[in-house]
Amino acid sequence: MATSKTAQTTKKRRVRKPAAEVLFAPAAVARLEAKATLPAKFQRMLARLPMKRVCDGGTVAVKMHVGGGIGFTTIPPLFIRLLIEKIKAAGAKRVFVTDGSLTVDAATARGYTTEVLGAPLVGAAGVDDTFRYKHKVRYKTLRSIDVAGNIEDADALINLSHFKGHGDCGYGGACKNLAMGCVTQETRGRLHQLEGGLKYNENLCIKCRKCVEACTRGAARWNDERDRLEIFYHHCVYCRHCVLACPTGAIKIIGGGFIPFQHGLALATKEVLGTFDKGRVLHINFLTQITVYCDCWEFSTPALIPDVGILASEDIVAVESASLDLTRDGQPLPGSLPPGHKLVEGRHMFERLHGKDPYIQIQRMEAARLGTPNYRLRKVN
Ligand code: SF4
Ligand code: SF4
Repeated sequence: MATSKTAQTTKKRRVRKPAAEVLFAPAAVARLEAKATLPAKFQRMLARLPMKRVCDGGTVAVKMHVGGGIGFTTIPPLFIRLLIEKIKAAGAKRVFVTDGSLTVDAATARGYTTEVLGAPLVGAAGVDDTFRYKHKVRYKTLRSIDVAGNIEDADALINLSHFKGHGDCGYGGACKNLAMGCVTQETRGRLHQLEGGLKYNENLCIKCRKCVEACTRGAARWNDERDRLEIFYHHCVYCRHCVLACPTGAIKIIGGGFIPFQHGLALATKEVLGTFDKGRVLHINFLTQITVYCDCWEFSTPALIPDVGILASEDIVAVESASLDLTRDGQPLPGSLPPGHKLVEGRHMFERLHGKDPYIQIQRMEAARLGTPNYRLRKVN
């Protein structure tokens, strides 16, 4: 049966193992049979996960990213229905699917309805994004993480993530699904404010706009109202073209500008996971329809690489590490990159796309003792 969440203050950190188990259901189909396809493998994967221990007797939150607008690369509703059936069979008292409060209403257009999923879709922080618990933190300009109330009040969490690229932090997976999706809109904004990396000195600027012309990514933008340069860090790959184009030295690169945002993500993830008892959280990453950018943007491009499959683990660091390792050497398929996107230097496909090292999130989560990057892959065929 579920243990009460009232005795949270005595919760202990997970004892780290030398290597964590990560289940891997490959997308490749060995035979032309329904039971060889990914949904069938997903069912067999769920049968191998400790669903009863995680779900029995408790309220279970299934946190996913429902996407936005006409985006169509999020996790298909069929998989969520299969998961909900398993959660119910494992003895959950109540189960709901959740995402940011301001995104769930419109998700019905993309098939995320109670009828299809088998569970209601509710805003993580209530209908108006105000149901939250404040967690005090101290990191640069960040003073609190407001964890969504419906997440914090749940007994168990299934962290169901669509793994894809992300302009601000290289990639979005299990860490980002919690850090940005289990908090209020206000906290999301404060996390984004940690971004940086270019220093613009308006006093030296002669307003020639050569920097804007030099930026092929659309990251250097001219603010007509304020008559000054602005940088959209989501698009910036730190290529220095604007710096080199500037005739007066008004722009300088400050190293590692993308790192504080990733540190903020790991910090928020720690606060969210800290509200659950040990053994009551599962992380499932879908490495399917892997796109350049995040799903919130309704900018669904063709898949960057062939579908990899589904990964699952009780260890968030291990499942993220395995997801990154399985995509590291990916070569974007013809036609998968938006205009103006060229690969830059980097050790991972997402770093070559976005100029941001995706392993920073892993390192920071490990430093926060959320798990281990050492994993053993166990195939589910
Ligand atoms: S560093 Fe490159 S991507 Fe970033 S704003 Fe300058 S030109 Fe654009
Ligand atoms: S290139 Fe330099 S001087 Fe010209 S608008 Fe950009 S920042 Fe200002």
